[in-house]
Amino acid sequence: MIIVLLGAPGAGKGTQAKKISKKFNIPHISTGDILRSEIKKNTPLGRKVIEFVRSGRLVPDDIIIKIIKKEITNNRGNFKNGFLMDGFPRNLKQARLFLNLLRELGLKLDRVINITVDRNEIIKRLGSRRVCSRCKKVYKYDDVKDMEDKVCRECRGELKKRSDDSIDVIKKRLDVYEDETKPLIEYYNKEGLLLDVDGKGSEKKVTERIFIGLDDSM
Ligand code: AMP
Repeated sequence: MIIVLLGAPGAGKGTQAKKISKKFNIPHISTGDILRSEIKKNTPLGRKVIEFVRSGRLVPDDIIIKIIKKEITNNRGNFKNGFLMDGFPRNLKQARLFLNLLRELGLKLDRVINITVDRNEIIKRLGSRRVCSRCKKVYKYDDVKDMEDKVCRECRGELKKRSDDSIDVIKKRLDVYEDETKPLIEYYNKEGLLLDVDGKGSEKKVTERIFIGLDDSM
């Protein structure tokens, strides 16, 4: 099964992606994680994209498409059950290029899950979230407020704020989402691929809604 996860930054795409990927045994491809890893390793690609990521703007489409092509073509053996895209496509051009790439490879997109959360809730969530610097587990404000040591409960990695989770950059990322990514909802709706899921409530509740929605639509 090939799935795209849509939703504003902070809607819970990364967290839900892990659950979906486990349930269907499909790899999770996160363009944000790939870019952050290149930046951390200070590779030529990392140096090219760092300013875009830091400021909350979209990395140019040609760079992103190259990354996606490489991921899919190099890992075809691991993708026999399909894969899950988190953070890609982010605009109509990327969506069209993705469609062409899938066609070239003889594949097709099965479902687009759109996780919806309102803007105020997102600003609250992103401003207080912390991420494990080692295993990337995401912690919400309620999870960390009483932790004295601020280390990950699963791997003891240090919990950090993402550099693009500052209030100005959060607002910029939300504006970019509204202008460039939101039109994808209509685009995929017209294709009959869209599954809207309410992203409010606990992680568990949202996961349940996603699984029920996927079951109903298959
Ligand atoms: P994310 O972790 O998905 O919120 O992505 C973090 C940042 O990486 C975004 O704010 C963009 O700067 C960049 N990014 C991630 N995915 C894409 C994409 N598909 N197209 C352009 N830029 C992206």
